[in-house]
Amino acid sequence: MTSTNRTAALCGLLWLTVAALAPAHDAVIHAGTLIDGLASVPRQHVSILIHDDRIASVEPGFVTRVGVDTIDLSNATVMPGFIDCHVHVSSKLPSRTNAIEDWLTHSDLDRAFDGAVFASAMLQQGFTSARDVGGGDDTVALRNAINAGKVPGPRLWVSLEPLGPTNGNADPRAGLDRLLEHRDWDNGVVNTPDEARLRVREHKRRGADLIKMLPSGGIASSGDDPRQQLMTNEEMRVTVETAHALGMKVAAHIYPADAIENAVRAGVDSVEHGSFATAQTFALMKEHGTYLVPTLTVYDLYYDVATHHPELLKPGTPEKEIANDLLPKRNLALAIRSGVKIAYGSDTGEGDHSMEFRLLIANGMTPDDAFIAATRNAADLLGASDRIGAIEPGRYADIVATASGPRQDPAQFGQVEFVMKGGVVYRQHGAPVAH
Ligand SMILES: [Zn+2]
Repeated sequence: MTSTNRTAALCGLLWLTVAALAPAHDAVIHAGTLIDGLASVPRQHVSILIHDDRIASVEPGFVTRVGVDTIDLSNATVMPGFIDCHVHVSSKLPSRTNAIEDWLTHSDLDRAFDGAVFASAMLQQGFTSARDVGGGDDTVALRNAINAGKVPGPRLWVSLEPLGPTNGNADPRAGLDRLLEHRDWDNGVVNTPDEARLRVREHKRRGADLIKMLPSGGIASSGDDPRQQLMTNEEMRVTVETAHALGMKVAAHIYPADAIENAVRAGVDSVEHGSFATAQTFALMKEHGTYLVPTLTVYDLYYDVATHHPELLKPGTPEKEIANDLLPKRNLALAIRSGVKIAYGSDTGEGDHSMEFRLLIANGMTPDDAFIAATRNAADLLGASDRIGAIEPGRYADIVATASGPRQDPAQFGQVEFVMKGGVVYRQHGAPVAH
């Protein structure tokens, strides 16, 4: 364990003992500059009044209230907490993990503890909400523990295991000895519309907030081809219809243009990755209001590992990584030009979730639009615009601050000095807060 990891683990343990004891206090934040996520122009010198876990009002000037703590951010830039719409909260960095060894020697219980440590780190980076699109029962338990104040972390929306066909990206047996068995390995496997309907309902029963599906082959998976559509249009349609009827959105991990277009017509709410999309694909997504979550971060991380440590990845996947990982970056300019709605997603668990800001901006997105992707758009994709994604009365007091404005200095997105979630301060003066 590195000293950084040990510190992170100790912080996790510390929080375990204190978080449940830290109810939200009423507070007034003096914001030097406020980027509220709604107005296009920042406001100067405003006060954010917080009652319990919610924003009560936003008032001009620096006001105080008798008996209420004042938090001085009068020299800082204050923003709504960031939202990562594509995480796997318990995933370790590919550079320090052998993918097969990790998969076969860890249980969901192990992953729950990893997830608690990584979720705590994510919150310290300013991510106050996240959507986990592929995990086990550990993600449901972690979401519930965070909501109950037992461990610190972002508000989580979880999908449980992604749905997909035998030998697709969702089939844990792909690439393994065919005699290996685990009772959870069929949790996401669907080969008929009826099985899709059943899995969606089972996921709902087990605590899923949304459904993820894998209609095309994957890149980090053994034995399938990212250029092929693997689910039938009917399986996709029934998945979406059943999920929507149960109040759940559907995220689809897809690469080929024609498969994306079929998924969009089936009614999915977001396309994850979308690597081979064309101008026509993006136009159809725009017409249907479908979000794109480009996930540039994961491709950079895997491209590096495939180049320098291919032995860590699943058999047969380094070649796919090298061939495909640079495409989403090249395609981002086309996506931006098309006007398709874009939401922020890193596709990571452990590690630096702010990396996606840097990559989006380096590949053609303005800092303002990257901020909107991680706040207003992300909240809309989650179906939670009434609660998160902006600083306005009635929404949760999920608030971050940086020393200077990320519009002028985009590196600030990765240097969050202050984090409040639900009215509780978790980071101040650039360091974790002990309660
Ligand atoms: Zn993913």
